Amino acid sequence: MRDMHDVRLMVVAGLVCAVGIYASFAIGNHAARANGSARSRWGVVSTVASASTAWATHFIVLLAFKPGMPAAFEPVLTAISLTCAIFGLGAGVLISIRVRQRWQLFGAGLLVGVGVTGLHYIGQAAYLVQGTVVWNLTLVLPSVIASLPLSGLAMVAVGSRDRRIRATAAPLLFVSIAVLHFCGMAAMTLHFDAAKRFPDNAVSPQAITPVVAGVSLALIVLAIFGWRFDLTAKANLRHDRRRLRELADVALEGLLICHNDIVITANNSIELLSGHVPGTLSGSFVSSLLPGLDISSLPEREEREMDLIGADGLEVPVRVLRREVALGHKIQTVIAVRDQRERLKTEAKMRLLAFTDPLTGLANRTRFFDLLAIHTASRRDRDKIGAVLMIDLDRFKEVNDTLGHAAGDIVLRMVADRLQSTMRMDDALARLGGDEFAVLQTAVEAADAATALAARIVKIIAASPFMLDGQPIHLGASIGIAMAPDDGDDPAELMRNVDLALYAAKADGRGLYRRYDPSLDEKTRQRRAIEAGLRLALAEGQMELHYQPLVDSKTGCITSAEALVRWNHPVRGLVPPLDFIGIAEETGLIVPLGEWVLNTACAEAATWPGEMRVAVNLSPAQFRERSLVPVIVAALNSSGLAPGRLELEITEGVLLSDETGTLATLNELRSLGVHVSMDDFGTGYSSLSYLRKFPFDKIKIDQSFVRQLPHDAESAAIVRAIITMAKCLGMSTTVEGVETSEQFDFSVAEGCDTIQGYLISRPLDCVHLASFITKTCKAPHTSVTA
Ligand code: C2E
Ligand code: CA
Ligand code: CA
Repeated sequence: MRDMHDVRLMVVAGLVCAVGIYASFAIGNHAARANGSARSRWGVVSTVASASTAWATHFIVLLAFKPGMPAAFEPVLTAISLTCAIFGLGAGVLISIRVRQRWQLFGAGLLVGVGVTGLHYIGQAAYLVQGTVVWNLTLVLPSVIASLPLSGLAMVAVGSRDRRIRATAAPLLFVSIAVLHFCGMAAMTLHFDAAKRFPDNAVSPQAITPVVAGVSLALIVLAIFGWRFDLTAKANLRHDRRRLRELADVALEGLLICHNDIVITANNSIELLSGHVPGTLSGSFVSSLLPGLDISSLPEREEREMDLIGADGLEVPVRVLRREVALGHKIQTVIAVRDQRERLKTEAKMRLLAFTDPLTGLANRTRFFDLLAIHTASRRDRDKIGAVLMIDLDRFKEVNDTLGHAAGDIVLRMVADRLQSTMRMDDALARLGGDEFAVLQTAVEAADAATALAARIVKIIAASPFMLDGQPIHLGASIGIAMAPDDGDDPAELMRNVDLALYAAKADGRGLYRRYDPSLDEKTRQRRAIEAGLRLALAEGQMELHYQPLVDSKTGCITSAEALVRWNHPVRGLVPPLDFIGIAEETGLIVPLGEWVLNTACAEAATWPGEMRVAVNLSPAQFRERSLVPVIVAALNSSGLAPGRLELEITEGVLLSDETGTLATLNELRSLGVHVSMDDFGTGYSSLSYLRKFPFDKIKIDQSFVRQLPHDAESAAIVRAIITMAKCLGMSTTVEGVETSEQFDFSVAEGCDTIQGYLISRPLDCVHLASFITKTCKAPHTSVTA
């Protein structure tokens, strides 16, 4: 074969082919970058260029062929071969621009291959020699079979995003054409035949040479054009990238300009964020900075949270956004990276604020309910039980009222610390509000664990006073307990029931814990009924007063009687005040009720003989009403009772709240001439400073001390001490709840002034009181047996 070819011409053919392919691709690229009609114009030029390349190469090679006999070209077939090349290549290129899939590109490449094959074999058929041509089909067929896939692959390579693969396109096409040509030439055997004549229209090789040279020259010119286009495009791209980088550096967000997975440029912000040395990010893989980011699968403008790996290997939480931008006719990907550390920190802080109680740092009500909901929901699958403890502080309101809210806050913090110290790891402690705390005990084996915790809490709160500026503050804790699932299976039911249990604990005397039991529901129902009934009772006159006489310990004469309210219930009969005074206080009904008691007591006492006084109990709620003094004045005026015949009994609770205001009211009452007694002395706060601040007329020693008299040495000592102290302060004393003659004698012996109790008389209605008065004054009460 080598002997049959002119090597120099073969080199020329190779050069023309290479230049032509370069020109076709360069112009093709230019067409791809252009828009509108320019695009199709340059597309046609590129197609014609590639067809001409194939055609010119083919003919130069044929010219280089030395068959050893005269040769010529058949012009019509020659023209058809060129047309075939143009259509095959044109169709292939046109399709390849429009499709993306690999197999489609491969198909387009096959079309190109068909064009080139047509060009080649038709062109070869147009090659005439003075002799006969014998074809060896066993070479023709493999040449086509080998060449077609190669041109298909070449087109697939053209469409690749990877520049390295793209670079293989031209060589692949080149090899495809070379295989076709050399196999085709080898498949042809020529036999000289002197008798053979060329047809009339045959063109001699000498005549076709200028045409081929012209086409080749045109290809070189096109290649120069293509080269210019390439240079300008690259310069434009560089310019655009520089401008983009300048713009990107102004941005606060990190920006990566990428081509496929490779970073082309990165702005200052992302270098700062990732800790990479400026300029070193270019050329690196995006995935090395943002592992797990698949750029192609990230929809445009959709933010995604992920971690950025810094130069130090640490993860930085970021949010990324992808945008495609056209840069120098190329589509590039811009990835915006936003640092999320500040936002996450703020969010965490806000979450913390939303779920914690700012005062104590414990979980707040919302968080507690969340925990409870989670627990009750998850508990259903397991057989563990849970417990809710609701804790309410006893006497805390007094702290707040007397020492102020700031002091109350400090005490609450101390309480929270103390509570926390009794908790186990799994217990969740929360402050629900005010002085109300709650514990969620999870994974409890038995109800004993909850009662044990409640006992610990009651003990630790009451164990020692809370010290505030050196002043001891004694508090207690009342606790309600509800167990899940026995006492409720959902948060609402548990909370309702634990609330009832707490209420019961408080009602039972504070400093106690109570577990919920269904009978509490009945009690609450009754309570509600009392509350509703009380309003009606006042309006319909179902209230009445009974009076319990007090006698002088020396003379046995009645000095006064204490007015004690009774509710004459149409169904329940006489309801004792302990059943409704508390509710009346809570609901505020105590104010109108107290006013009614005052008016009635004064009116009835006005009918009593001589100097006999009436004692009326006042509740703290009445003291908080501004109208108290006017109401008392009105009661005295309308009844005509001398102020000196009215005694007001107040408990220490009255003094605890708003001390200054209360003292002012007391002094005002005192100036009217009304007597004031300290009731239930010894049961409350028992601060002696109250006795110093306000000179009470009388101290009533609580029944709880009297009950154990005279045998209990401690009670005896307390009663004795109170009487002595009262004497020193110039106050008189009453011993309450005297039921036995021993108690009576002890009280008299200790020098107490007046005696009250069932021994003397139970509380009596008006009629019975009147006869008791007549009876007693005729035969003064000097001893128990009287
Ligand atoms: P209190 O002021 O300590 O009233 C004395 C209570 O002790 C009365 O109960 C009386 O019946 C009871 N008592 C008297 N002597 C004895 C005795 O020897 N043994 C025993 N075991 N008890 C005795 P009552 O009438 O049930 O009143 C209970 C409480 O209800 C009173 O305690 C008082 O705090 C309140 N209360 C009654 N009426 C009124 C009222 O009109 N207004 C206000 N604010 N409270 C009232
Ligand atoms: Ca009383
Ligand atoms: Ca009392």
